[in-house]
Amino acid sequence: MCGIVGFTGSEQCSEFLVQALKRLEYRGYDSAGIAVQSGGKIKTVKAKGKIAEGLQEKLKEEGVPGGSCGIGHTRWATHGEPSDVNSHPIGNGRISIVHNGIIENYREIKKFLIGHGYGFESETDTETVVKLLDYYYSSDPVDAISKAIRDIEGAYALGIIFRDFPDKIFAVRKESPLIVGQGKGENFIASDVTAILDRTREYYILEHEEIAEISPNKIIFRDSHGFPITKQLKIADWDISTAEKGGYEHFMLKEIHEQPAAVRNTLSPRVKNGLPSFEECGLTDEKLKGYKHIFIIGCGSAMHAGMVGKYVIEELSRSPVIVDIASEFRYRNPLLSKDDLCVIISQSGETADTKAALTLANEIGADTLALVNVVGSSIAREAKMVMYTNAGPEISVCSTKAYAVQTAFMYLLAFRVALARGAITEEKCRELTGELMCIPQLIEKCLCDKEQYQFVASKLINAQSLMYIGRGLDYALSMEGSLKLKEISYIHSESYAAGELKHGTISLIEEGMPVIAVATQSRLADKTVSNVKEVKSRGAVVVVICKENFEFDNTIADYKLTLPPISDLLMPMVAIVPMQLTAYYTAVLLGRDVDMPRNLAKSVTVE
Ligand code: GLU
Repeated sequence: MCGIVGFTGSEQCSEFLVQALKRLEYRGYDSAGIAVQSGGKIKTVKAKGKIAEGLQEKLKEEGVPGGSCGIGHTRWATHGEPSDVNSHPIGNGRISIVHNGIIENYREIKKFLIGHGYGFESETDTETVVKLLDYYYSSDPVDAISKAIRDIEGAYALGIIFRDFPDKIFAVRKESPLIVGQGKGENFIASDVTAILDRTREYYILEHEEIAEISPNKIIFRDSHGFPITKQLKIADWDISTAEKGGYEHFMLKEIHEQPAAVRNTLSPRVKNGLPSFEECGLTDEKLKGYKHIFIIGCGSAMHAGMVGKYVIEELSRSPVIVDIASEFRYRNPLLSKDDLCVIISQSGETADTKAALTLANEIGADTLALVNVVGSSIAREAKMVMYTNAGPEISVCSTKAYAVQTAFMYLLAFRVALARGAITEEKCRELTGELMCIPQLIEKCLCDKEQYQFVASKLINAQSLMYIGRGLDYALSMEGSLKLKEISYIHSESYAAGELKHGTISLIEEGMPVIAVATQSRLADKTVSNVKEVKSRGAVVVVICKENFEFDNTIADYKLTLPPISDLLMPMVAIVPMQLTAYYTAVLLGRDVDMPRNLAKSVTVE
């Protein structure tokens, strides 16, 4: 879900488009391309891979298209593997587009268009938009765009050129970002202002479903019905590096704030008629009913998402789930059989241990389902079934939004398994799914409590060591909270099942040691509070993370971080936010390299 640029002016634009795309490289991508209005034709050059090795090499071979109006794109594949043909711009000679986002109802639109004689070359959702525009277009681009956006559902930022309008770019967006830059005798579109900062600082933010018609000396904005509107010009006062991070100080903070959108992107394409649906990968109810065991395999945060999955699947469907660390699973001759489902979780789809676990599971003959973020990655290719988490690229080494979408997916899986096995009714499943769909709003709510998290972080910075405790789902969550804190702040931290404290760990408690107690589960919270009393009386400084309305003896908590109300089962989806942000602010206060913590790499491709 990456970068868009566009230029219309009086000078040759191919070189500018390529350079502008390079300025968007930080967003992560797997292919790149440009399309330029050139002597009455739209000329397109696009290639898989990095700009320098793919697109620029191809431009050398095929020649740089001449012309002063064009669009460019860096693609982060969501539908169809990274390949030349799936790269954008995508066009049909008459219309060419670049798209960021996901068209959720592309299957229905494609079916409709095939019925009207259209053919398709790529595997992308984007191609349906090109053909839909073509279907509606006779001579008025704005009319075609406003009709097309009435049909499409999902997230999109679109840059569009029509062969019949050689000096114009049209743009429209919903959910995915897009700005329109204003220069002198030249105008631009871009995913963010970074791409055009060397040419202009003046820009407009395109709002949902607004349509822009951009010529070298004029920009016209219209609402979704085509009626002209006026918009306020903005002046960028960011430097390039601030702009890359969308104004956030670090990628980690930006990605934490992207969680509501990422979770929405993971969930909404997989919910049909209010119920989770895995049709897209062939995971039928019949299969889900038949598996003897479900294994969930991952490393680090991915494994922690699997832990939440285990609790929820077992709770709802009363069938056993085995969660394993990939590096353990691969070497321990696991008791996996061909009657089992093995869910393999990896953000990058390249994690070496996880990949080896997948290979082993395939050899044993189990059904394998990969849950990955990077389309076309090794794990995605090797698994029998694949589902993409649609979180967009995660740049910060410390995983936040990838964990959130993996966990969200675990819930969908749990609900469908329980339904398929008759452990819950369709009505219950619908109710749970509905509640899950509200999670993005609740995450947004938690994101507003910045001061609370900063305050708690300021109390942690002098600790040598700290502890996270919880029971049940709160324990699964504690593991992730503890990992966040230690990997970026370098403060030693461990997570324990609260009931385990008395079996050894409590001897570590000394005056002033922070203990973060997660107590979101109504059935277990009082038990955790008893454990809190034990550590408090031995000198611990206690932070309690709990629901807003949870009543307990407040004197035992030095600090309290509260969460908006939601059913216990879904609590991990919101309770992780205070943990991520507390870890983040602790690392910031300690002056750590938040996005690139020492000794760590984003994609762990060695075992
Ligand atoms: N969904 C589109 C594709 O897979 C756009 C991806 C993007 O935002 O880069 O081609």
